Amino acid sequence: MSSSSPIMCAVADLTEQAKAIREATSKSLMARDMYTEQVVFQLTGVLKSAQEQVHKALLAYRDVGSLPDNKLAAVNGLGKLDAQIQDAMRALRKDQSLMFRQSSRAAFRSGVYRGIEEFASAQMPFYRDLTPDGIDKLTTSVFTLIDTDVLDFMTNYNLVLVGDVSRELESGIKRTILSGITTGKGVREIVRDMGMVIENKESFRNAGSKVFTKAQYRMEMIARTEVLRAHNQGRIKFHREVGVQRLEWMTMEDERTCPVCGGLDGKQFDIDKFPSIPAHPRCRCCALPIVMCVQAPEGFVQSEEHADDGT
Ligand SMILES: [Zn+2]
Repeated sequence: MSSSSPIMCAVADLTEQAKAIREATSKSLMARDMYTEQVVFQLTGVLKSAQEQVHKALLAYRDVGSLPDNKLAAVNGLGKLDAQIQDAMRALRKDQSLMFRQSSRAAFRSGVYRGIEEFASAQMPFYRDLTPDGIDKLTTSVFTLIDTDVLDFMTNYNLVLVGDVSRELESGIKRTILSGITTGKGVREIVRDMGMVIENKESFRNAGSKVFTKAQYRMEMIARTEVLRAHNQGRIKFHREVGVQRLEWMTMEDERTCPVCGGLDGKQFDIDKFPSIPAHPRCRCCALPIVMCVQAPEGFVQSEEHADDGT
């Protein structure tokens, strides 16, 4: 930060300000979680269509007799089936890569946006005067400062993780088919053994370890964790840009008893020494900015009339 940015210090009551920021942060976590659900929903959708494609390819064998009953058809058919499975998996990987690329960027940007919006709703000087459009413009100006290498690294890391899941899914599908054939199962039974993508979360918990259900479970876990990682990084990026020096680890109600995060709850760190967040898969904790004085991001002026506010 250059010294040319206006510095605005909380004038009134610091305790009141801290309380307002804490409240604004808790409130904005709901928006964050809604976005995560949206990403999970989309990913579930592409996995579901891959599952339908594989099931359909397999069920087509009812026309030529079930695989185990017709050895010749089985041998001839397997090559074709194999190609169909590979097609479905290729399409799945392509869609997922695209989604993870988009959602990492979007979650990072929304982290910046929420960070600004929280200051606005906590009535911080300068920020309280921002219009929604102003928040958006400010988000863009912070977002252009990001180190794209870091974002790319994060995205590529996610792609490796989901790539592992889809490779495991592919070999799981093949394993299920082969073991079905060798134990004399019918096509319908093999399809059942593969399991399916589940939309009802209640039955999801008891769904066991069938290949599609397992893939869904792991994919969902990666999406939840990584969307939150990008979101947290975006928020912290914003805080660093405006001169926040300390952050407090803030757990959600249900994370307070987590062995990893429970002990971190309420602890304060220098912004550069803040532990890696999320701390574990599905960790929903966030970083609460400890604010004394803040700056408007360098070079950002919303409009003439607001330029002198709070200085
Ligand atoms: Zn946590």
